[in-house]
Amino acid sequence: MLRLDLSEIVRTVGMNHFCEIDEPPFVFDDIEFISPVKGNVTISNSGELLIVRGSFKSTISLECARCLADVRQPIDGDILEQFAIIGVEDSPRRDEAPAIVQDEDNEMPEGLFEGLVIDLRVLIRQSAILNAPLNVLCREDCKGLCPSCGKNRNLISCDCSFEATNRPFASLPELFRQKDTE
Ligand SMILES: [Zn+2]
Ligand SMILES: [Zn+2]
Repeated sequence: MLRLDLSEIVRTVGMNHFCEIDEPPFVFDDIEFISPVKGNVTISNSGELLIVRGSFKSTISLECARCLADVRQPIDGDILEQFAIIGVEDSPRRDEAPAIVQDEDNEMPEGLFEGLVIDLRVLIRQSAILNAPLNVLCREDCKGLCPSCGKNRNLISCDCSFEATNRPFASLPELFRQKDTE
């Protein structure tokens, strides 16, 4: 379960809640986790701050930068976030409902909290994106898509390759490829 009710943690200063993550593959937003997400998260109440820290491993599906084929990318992610807690101990109005608000140093990711329920998928997705390489290739020598007809040149050698080299930008993928292998 990657959605946790923090009602008790938020009301209990000094409480640490350890939580094992072992989630079957899932799709969240734009990221597809294609192997189980395993790791752990500790959520602590320091009195003023709610601190969420942990780590996880999984595999996500990315597109090859040249041919757009699916690439399995292992991910080793860390989570470290903190949020301000209001309305607990020193609240001027003791009957005020506790709430988790944005800490001034940290931007609160969208959709992370619904009241006092945290959706850890938001932090896992964010960390997966940060830890994924910018450009992945399905294989070192991926031939990419034909700049002229768009066919996957790993699968089909199209007839337009000679024609394509006469076009002003058609040789660009070749240049990038040479650069990559240098
Ligand atoms: Zn490729
Ligand atoms: Zn072609």
